[in-house]
Amino acid sequence: MILPGATIGILGGGQLGRMLAIAAAQLGYRCHAYDPNPGSGAAEVCAEFTCAPWIDRNALGLFAAACDVVTFEFENVLAGPLAAIPPGKLWPPVKALEVAQDRLHEKAFAESCGGRPAPYAAVDSAEDLAAAIERIGTPGILKTRREGYDGKGQWRIDSPRDAEGLRLPGPNLIYEGFIHFAAEFSVILVRGADGEVRFWDSPHNVHRSGILTTSALPAPPAVVEQVPAARALAGRIAEALDYVGVMTCEFFATDAGPVFNEMAPRVHNSGHWTIEGAETSQFENHVRAICGLPLGDSRTVAPRVAMENLIGRDVERASAILAEPGAHLHLYGKAEAREGRKMGHVTRIGR
Ligand code: AMP
Repeated sequence: MILPGATIGILGGGQLGRMLAIAAAQLGYRCHAYDPNPGSGAAEVCAEFTCAPWIDRNALGLFAAACDVVTFEFENVLAGPLAAIPPGKLWPPVKALEVAQDRLHEKAFAESCGGRPAPYAAVDSAEDLAAAIERIGTPGILKTRREGYDGKGQWRIDSPRDAEGLRLPGPNLIYEGFIHFAAEFSVILVRGADGEVRFWDSPHNVHRSGILTTSALPAPPAVVEQVPAARALAGRIAEALDYVGVMTCEFFATDAGPVFNEMAPRVHNSGHWTIEGAETSQFENHVRAICGLPLGDSRTVAPRVAMENLIGRDVERASAILAEPGAHLHLYGKAEAREGRKMGHVTRIGR
């Protein structure tokens, strides 16, 4: 057990790390952030900060030596250099990162655990794309296998002719059939060092241009009836990975049951509502899990909870939100409100 007073290392210095550090501080831990970018929102609330590249094994080794346990908040941390961190000190396991970093492996892994993703095919060339469209049909989405997030690195293909005019950004792509879903939802779980698993209620997630805009509870019946099957799959994935910490799986609710979209081996934007909306937040339970402490109650505390992301200039509504009863504002300390940038979020609790 890593007891309060110890130092938790966080690979990645964005808002997820910031909220993890805040939760860790509440339990009496110190945090040490690691990020290649000097302008880190997490570093602002951490005791220590290492600013070094992901490939710097020496810096990673020194960082790990200064921490009692290490976790990550960013899933594109390069897996190879993490060998500089002693085994048993890094949670969730590197295997979870490796699976989640590559959409092709992720889908194959979910299938091996009994899940059903959208029909997909690896695409490394224009010929592969033509063959994938022939087999899977249109509409579909061409995505980069790695490093895409918030809808970046994705191209919608409505007809085979769309593909003909497309200049591929490179190899290592994946083509996915478009899923006509009733709703999107996520399963957010925490798995303790002893294998105990707890789930939060599954929110209904709405995306615009590939970016999450809202996560709300209660979810509509189309979601609620698919949660047991989705939880069962997420639980099997976590077990197969020997997972410790918070893990999120995103799903499409369809007439034929839940379709697995992707997994995040970390705390997730669709779980931000748990800070005020659940007995124990995803951030606190992640800290508890990686430190080997007993897990906290994940029950929702109010009949209605809704999280809204403040994206780009939405942040200009911050003072109006502060005046709203039942609204909890979180700002991430980012200076520039660029389009598509997550600047903060607000959670509204309805009693
Ligand atoms: P992703 O980064 O893959 O999670 O994609 C971001 C969002 O794009 C998803 O949450 C969906 O709203 C949409 N999307 C991605 N893949 C598909 C798909 N195969 N079918 C329908 N919508 C999709």
